[in-house]
Amino acid sequence: MSDSPSVGLCHACGVALKTTYQAFALQHHTIDYTFRGDTPNEQAHLTLASTYIVARFCSSQCCKPGLGSLLQAQRLSAALEYNQIQAGPRHPCAKCGKPVNMTQPHSAWVRCELTAEWNGSLWQAMAPDWFIVLAVMCPDCAGLASDAEDARQPDRQRLRV
Ligand SMILES: [Zn+2]
Ligand SMILES: [Zn+2]
Repeated sequence: MSDSPSVGLCHACGVALKTTYQAFALQHHTIDYTFRGDTPNEQAHLTLASTYIVARFCSSQCCKPGLGSLLQAQRLSAALEYNQIQAGPRHPCAKCGKPVNMTQPHSAWVRCELTAEWNGSLWQAMAPDWFIVLAVMCPDCAGLASDAEDARQPDRQRLRV
């Protein structure tokens, strides 16, 4: 095999990660509900734009206990760690409560399992093997908590139908 460096260390216990690991991450994605199926989950087709990994874990035993504080670090409720949001078409933003249209590009905090592949010079995470949506974020609230408080005023204009 190759002499590639280690993938990284577990955020909780510090062991060297295998090429498949779990992560707490912010996904930017769009969901298309045009597929045939009986449930919204079957009808949904997700287009993943990007995944920002905040913390990696060796196992679900290490990942699950860490989720509450990771969510709080993003100024979200730790109780969201128990969430398993089903496919949409609409879901309230975890921060401001505004409905998020999940057919439009939006963000979501997820627990996911990723496989990293060595491309010869660095590790690249492939699209998640699976993920659980913990919190859906509207475009105004998406982003990392290091950003300044959002001072935007609510848009009072209404659409004429
Ligand atoms: Zn661990
Ligand atoms: Zn919001």
